[in-house]
Amino acid sequence: MSRDLLELNGIVIKVNPCRENDILLDILSDERGRIFVFVKNAAKKVKNLTFASPFAYSRFELNRSSSGLLVYAGSTLHDYFPELRTDVIKMTVGQYFCEIATSVPEKIDDPQVFLSLLLNSLYVLSGRAGPIETKHIKLVYEIAFLHLFGFMPDSSSCASCDATPCFWHFDEGFLCEKCASRYPDHELYRVNGAILSCIGHILNTSGGKRYAFKMSEDSFRALQWLSEEYIQYKLERKFKTLAIYRELIYEKP
Ligand SMILES: [Zn+2]
Repeated sequence: MSRDLLELNGIVIKVNPCRENDILLDILSDERGRIFVFVKNAAKKVKNLTFASPFAYSRFELNRSSSGLLVYAGSTLHDYFPELRTDVIKMTVGQYFCEIATSVPEKIDDPQVFLSLLLNSLYVLSGRAGPIETKHIKLVYEIAFLHLFGFMPDSSSCASCDATPCFWHFDEGFLCEKCASRYPDHELYRVNGAILSCIGHILNTSGGKRYAFKMSEDSFRALQWLSEEYIQYKLERKFKTLAIYRELIYEKP
């Protein structure tokens, strides 16, 4: 066995065509965080390309080339979440989760937590944990992902004075009426008690309980919009798959 052979578990989060027959996989792995893996002559040499499709989670064998590139040598497929491939909204949300995961830096201390969050979210989205609303799974993923990045402020009290918050400032956190008055109106988003306690619930629970929250449709819509705007603001990018999701949802009666 070559001393440059690596083995790790990882999920494909993006597939990039590369030259005529090669592909470059963007993989979120358990041991090395995000890695890029070349699959040479993919269409010609590799008979079953399931491992190279989005959501495919495998044990990969990789060679390191003399120039340092990771090159695909083989894989054992663990799961590819087939349930997501037959439902356009679930597939779009799964792709959105993967697109968000492409914000994970290439070198991080604990890549396993991001991988676990993505795998668990795809598992729940697939319906394997029972019927859970897709929009709840999406919200939990956004907030949990931001929390792992250290971007989710404490929603239980004002960031400046411990009073009850009623505004969200995307840089300062949650603020009470008095502390919020220091900032211009266009930087402030009003939040009610239901929104604050839902965020607290997501941050302070785990497993299936995380998805078990109830709030009015108006409050949920407000929180959903805030969460989508906040993740794009903090990660400094617009997500194409989120735009597609919004179109699909608003098309529905
Ligand atoms: Zn305050």
